[in-house]
Amino acid sequence: MNIVIFGAPGSGKGTQSEKLIEKYGLYHISTGDLLRKEIKAGSELGKIADGYISKGQLLPDSLIIDMLAKLLDTTPETRQGVIFDGFPRTIPQAEALEALLRDRGLELSAVVGLEVDEPELIDRLLKRGQVSGRSDDNLETIKKRLDVYHSQTTPLKEFYIANGKYKAIHGMGSVDSIFESITRALDGCAC
Ligand code: AMP
Repeated sequence: MNIVIFGAPGSGKGTQSEKLIEKYGLYHISTGDLLRKEIKAGSELGKIADGYISKGQLLPDSLIIDMLAKLLDTTPETRQGVIFDGFPRTIPQAEALEALLRDRGLELSAVVGLEVDEPELIDRLLKRGQVSGRSDDNLETIKKRLDVYHSQTTPLKEFYIANGKYKAIHGMGSVDSIFESITRALDGCAC
């Protein structure tokens, strides 16, 4: 099973990914986490990523796609199934994911779309900012990230509705009740 967990910043992708990994034994790929590791390590990619992340902008597609292709090729655990968290974020990334999987004899099973109201997203991200230490969890950058999400990432919802993979999940309420909705949607699909 290869899944994309999809939703705005603050929609709960990381939290629900942790629970999905535990239940389905999937390998977690969070592009945001990978980039933050690169920043910590002071690598070339990290230096480039830092500039984009702190401004709330997306990195160029080619950098993200190359990073992911390398990871898939050097991590045998990804063959057990992957949960993609924070990727894809643009239509070219979604097309690249199809190709990356197809070239490796794999296929995307489903896209779990966490749908959360905007005031709730801002509230959650500001709360997270008090403990995360992330350069992008402040009000100005949160607003920028939400703008970027609306302009560059929401078109993906239509893309995945059109290919029948999108599972809409009401992402408000308790972590456990949202997780239950997700597992119901996944258990009910042919994936
Ligand atoms: P996240 O942890 O998923 O919220 O990502 C934090 C930041 O990392 C984003 O605001 C982007 O600057 C960058 N980033 C993460 N994933 C991607 C991606 N798939 N494409 C472009 N930029 C990304």
